[in-house]
Order: sequence, then C-alpha cells, then structure tokens
Amino acid sequence: MHSPPALTAIPVRVSAALALALMAATAVRAAPATAPETVAVQLRDAAMAGHDIAYSWVSELTTRFGPRPAGSPNEQQAAAWAADKLKALGFENVRVETFPITAWVRGTESGQLVAPATQPLAVAALGESPPTPPGGLEGDVVIFPTLADLQAAPPGSLAGRIAMIAQRTVRAQNGAGYSAAVPARTDGPGVAAQRGAIGFLLRSVGTDSHRLAHTGTTRYVEGRVPLPAFALSAPDADQVERIAALGQTVRVRLFSGASYVRDAHSQNVIAEVRGRERPQEVVLLGAHLDSWDQGTGAIDDGAGTAIIAAAAKLIRDLPHRPRRTVRVVLFGSEEIAQPVPPGGAFGGHAYADGHRAELAGHVLAGESDLGSDRVYSLALPAAVGHGEFATTLLRVLTPIGVLGAERPPEDAGTDIGPSVEAGVPAFELSQDAMRYFDIHHTADDTLDKIDRAQLDQNVAAWAALVWLAADSEVDFRH
Ligand SMILES: [Zn+2]
Repeated sequence: MHSPPALTAIPVRVSAALALALMAATAVRAAPATAPETVAVQLRDAAMAGHDIAYSWVSELTTRFGPRPAGSPNEQQAAAWAADKLKALGFENVRVETFPITAWVRGTESGQLVAPATQPLAVAALGESPPTPPGGLEGDVVIFPTLADLQAAPPGSLAGRIAMIAQRTVRAQNGAGYSAAVPARTDGPGVAAQRGAIGFLLRSVGTDSHRLAHTGTTRYVEGRVPLPAFALSAPDADQVERIAALGQTVRVRLFSGASYVRDAHSQNVIAEVRGRERPQEVVLLGAHLDSWDQGTGAIDDGAGTAIIAAAAKLIRDLPHRPRRTVRVVLFGSEEIAQPVPPGGAFGGHAYADGHRAELAGHVLAGESDLGSDRVYSLALPAAVGHGEFATTLLRVLTPIGVLGAERPPEDAGTDIGPSVEAGVPAFELSQDAMRYFDIHHTADDTLDKIDRAQLDQNVAAWAALVWLAADSEVDFRH
C-alpha cells in the first residue's frame, strides 16, 4: 500500500499528499452535490493509499517521549507535544485539561527461585503494587490454577506464603482471552492478602512464550494495594509449575523498589473540527496517551492516538466541514488504578465530569485501544444496527475487510466508558487481536511492531465512519 512500484522514487509523504490533493480537487469540482458516501469512499481510499499522518504521529510520539506512565513528566510532555501538533494540523479549540492522580513508579525489581535450586525468574511488578521490604521477601509458593481456586482457599491458609495464579490467556481474535484472564491480575493480590499471603505471583496475562513479563494494573482495596505483586513470564510460570509437579516445594525471593507520587497530575488533550451546521453535536473519538513504562507504548496506545488523529485530520482537510463537530480526545491515565473512587479510568471520568452538560449533544463515541492491526468488525448502536446508516457504512467498509457485527458493542472502551454510562451511544471498530497480547504491557511494545498497511486500514475505517456519522442527522440514541 505504501510504495507502489511505479512511485518508488517518490517518498510516501509526497504520494500521500498528492492523493489527498487529488481527492480534494475532485470533491471541490463536485461540491456541494457530492454524496456523503462518495466522500467516505474518497477518505477511505486516501487513507489506504498510505497517508503518512498516522505512522509519523506514532513514530514521533514514541521516539520523542518513549514510555509515558500516567502522571510522569513524559506523559505531560507528550500531551503538550500532542496539543501543539494538533494545532499545527489545523484543529480548533485545542486544549489540555488536567486532573490530579496518584502516580506509581517502578523501581528496581528482581525474582529468584531459591529452592529447590537457585534460578533467575523474569518478573515485572504489577502496576500500583507496593514495594517489598528493603531486603526483599521470601516464601513458599502455593499455586492456584485460577482466581476462583484462590478465592476458595480458606482465610489464613496462606499465612507467610506467596500465592500464585497460573491461569493461561487464550489467544482470540476479539481479545476475549484477555478479558477472561485479567481479573486474576486486578483482584488476585487482594484475595491473596485476605488469606494471609505475603506476596502474589501471576502467570502473565499474555499469549506469547517470551521471557518478558506483562505488567498491568492491579486494584486498590480500601485505599491500598495490600501485597507486593508480580507477573512472571510465561516460560517462568511453566517452570514453577513443573517443579511443583515434581512434588518439590518452590521457594522464591522477590524484590521491588516501587514507589508512589501522591500529588501527581495527568491530562486529557482535546481538539476539534467544528461542525458547519450543528456544532453543538459531537462525534467523540478517544484513545489514550499514557502507556506502561517498560516499552514505548507504540501499540498501547500510541497507535490509537495516531489512528484517531489521522482520521480526524483527513476530515479536517476536506473542502467542506461535516455538519456536526468531530472531537478528538487523547486521554491521560487510562492504564492505572487509583486509591480513591471511582478507582480508575480517571481520564475518562475527568472528561465525562468536566463535559457533563455537553454529553446530551454527544451523538456518538468510539475508542481505539487494541493496537494497530486491522479492523475486521463494525458494531453500531442498536438504534441504527440495521438501518440505512449501517447499510451505507458497510458498503464503504466491506471492501477493506470490515464485516458487520451481530450485536451492538458491549464495552466500547475504558476512556469513553463514563460518557457511555451517561447515555452517549457507542460504536466499535473491532481490531484483530491475534498478536496483540503477545506484546501488550511488555518491554516489547515498540514502534517496530506496527504494520503500516494495517495502521492505514484503521485510519480508513475510522475516517469513513466518523465522516458519515458527523455529516448526517442520524439519531444514534433512539
Ligand atoms: Zn490501552
């Protein structure tokens, strides 16, 4: 898609700009009678031809700032950069809205088997988990196949020991394996503490076989995470299980120097293409700027921020604005839990709370937060699931491999979640998650994992959908 053989001497940037110029010229000649569907096809084709905005966005973001943990200087600098970038791209009403959080900072960390033989373990502290004592902690490991098995253990039965959940993550195109496995990470430490454990180990929530542990947040219980908690890489979890199966006691030593920053802040970055007829009606596009700390947050979620910014930019550059406003929100602090209610998604809650009076005018919302691989399925609100809007949109998207889902979205995303709970209808462009959870929340989440052709297909799907929704008068609520 990016460098057709006949154009190999011409940089992608130039050919993409040319494609856009041709598209705009076509639209100008035909205006104002160009049908919205025709414009959607033009947007789709411009993105598929290798528009450079998305890739250069995620490349610059991950290169300049690297990891962007919630509340860190890197996250703040990335937000300032994004705001400047959005202004330079021609967006309107660009602003940064800050909110207070407690940040978590990984320290040095290590894990070793100390019995029956000394062996190194590849571990990563779970986000928000407290440090170990300065000398580390040591205990015998009790293995539970699932969170339910740990929950079934009697109170006090794990006194002085380390609980481990060995549940595997199923590889699935829709990411269902992650949803099934992740409660072990969020709830496991609290459940283990109630049973007397001194530490918590988790087989990484991930589908790879590399010796990299997958971090991710765990949950506060009454204002604190009760136990030092660690993910083990999948091969290390296998090793621990095999030793136990030999009938031997597994004893481990764990160390974490993690710490908290209680007076940190995070921020949402907002930008708009104002609507020409109904500017108070908003189509909301969300993704998150923060990331975990070990990689550079390329697939989670630099890619999502790039996809929505690029889709909105293509719409911005059309000769005619859509009827309704297109609003891009780059959320902060998606990844981490918080010690105070509502416990997490502070960027999403800050947005919904700060824009409560506008939410009735939010006609539709979507979120891009499952990497950069291709979109294969479209789910729309029940109100329009089988109507003219869906039929038109699928005519545009089916040629790039997107099928209609049978049901409306059940959970369209963490960051738009609080707005959706307040009644904003949601769509979902489901991405192929077959390889996402090999990399997700590991040190391997880096730019090289992004497939440019698939990234562009995402932009194509988003641009066509958002344009058709924003240029319509469709009521997605009823
Ligand atoms: Zn994410």
